[in-house]
Amino acid sequence: MYFQKGFGLKSEVGPVLARTYQSPVIEKLKAQGYEAAAGGLHIKLAREFGFCYGVDRAVDYAYQTRRQFPDRRVFLSGEIIHNPDVNQRIRDMGIRILEDADGPVERFADVAAGDVVILPAFGVSVPELAHLKAKQCVLVDTTCGSVLNVWKKVHHHARDGYTVIIHGKHHHEETRATASQALTHEGGHYLCVRNVAETELVCEFIRGRRSAAGLMAHFHEAASPGFDPDQHLARIGLANQTTMLMSETLTVQETLRRAVAERYGEADLDAHFRAFDTICSATQERQDAVLEMLEQGGLDLMIVIGGYNSSNTQALARMCAPRVRTYYIDSPGCIAAAGIRHREVGATVETSTAGWLAAGPVRLGITAGASTPDSVVGEVIERILARRGATIDQLTAPAGIAQGSQSYA
Ligand code: SF4
Repeated sequence: MYFQKGFGLKSEVGPVLARTYQSPVIEKLKAQGYEAAAGGLHIKLAREFGFCYGVDRAVDYAYQTRRQFPDRRVFLSGEIIHNPDVNQRIRDMGIRILEDADGPVERFADVAAGDVVILPAFGVSVPELAHLKAKQCVLVDTTCGSVLNVWKKVHHHARDGYTVIIHGKHHHEETRATASQALTHEGGHYLCVRNVAETELVCEFIRGRRSAAGLMAHFHEAASPGFDPDQHLARIGLANQTTMLMSETLTVQETLRRAVAERYGEADLDAHFRAFDTICSATQERQDAVLEMLEQGGLDLMIVIGGYNSSNTQALARMCAPRVRTYYIDSPGCIAAAGIRHREVGATVETSTAGWLAAGPVRLGITAGASTPDSVVGEVIERILARRGATIDQLTAPAGIAQGSQSYA
């Protein structure tokens, strides 16, 4: 059995989801024009932040699935989304999250025929899906429509003989699932580039300034089996993980386009190069909203909330960090009396910073990745207000709050 459209239980789970993931603090801030002040803090919320349509739908289906199959074992192939709070609630409903493994056999070793398996918003790879179908599991597929759209582009590239270059993290579930689509076509291949620096390496090869062996020494884990740069970089089609930094994706595209044009000539470009922008609209809107806040200026610091393994949250933090002191946190518990626990952009461990909230007036910007519910953002705001002995009831229109002293803009 294969379900993609829920079980008609929206009216039953809707109130539970609203109670669990919505927040009166956020409702209040939105009603006040996305900014308010209390305790000397001027808090500005990004115009777009938090749960996207794909995550909303995936979480809704997970709750519906639990209701639909109360007596069956229910599994999730990896985290439903990259948010620790949401994943814990899913576990608390008795849904087991299956850790990553070397392949489908290992990952789904404990899953048997008749068990229910929820496929996350990022999708699963072609071999994983085939394995679960062969095992005769009940599949609830929450793959986001925007991810399916990327897969469609990948199929176009691979079908027409273009190697798929994916701007994404090769170990990320979404990118692995996307890459696997390319291999469903005879002769299909892929190569994942994480950033502009890696793109430059590919361009050096295309321009004849780097050997095939030298290139593969770097990309052996990020390319399809049997990848031969001489053969497989002659015709390339671009796609990207939906949650990457838009500005970086455009640079990756343009960098590759220039290298291919130099190698084959502008007149022959179409025969060797294709590009589709596959950043999803939710990611784009959240990045645009942050850019708007940064352009307006005047912020003393920025709080970015989301799982540390969430690509789209990382992208938001990367946008903020060069322009304003930024604290990237994954949960309300990061705000404590002793200081703030956070991750610097690009770091793999948390840091603790005491005295992060200066005395006197402070202008604070807040955003959150697409997998962060309002309830988490609201609790973060409550905890920050508590540092100043203030509560949400005291939040009022922000007139009269002077610009703080710790300006980084
Ligand atoms: S971030 Fe975009 S692609 Fe990912 S689930 Fe949300 S809407 Fe879908």
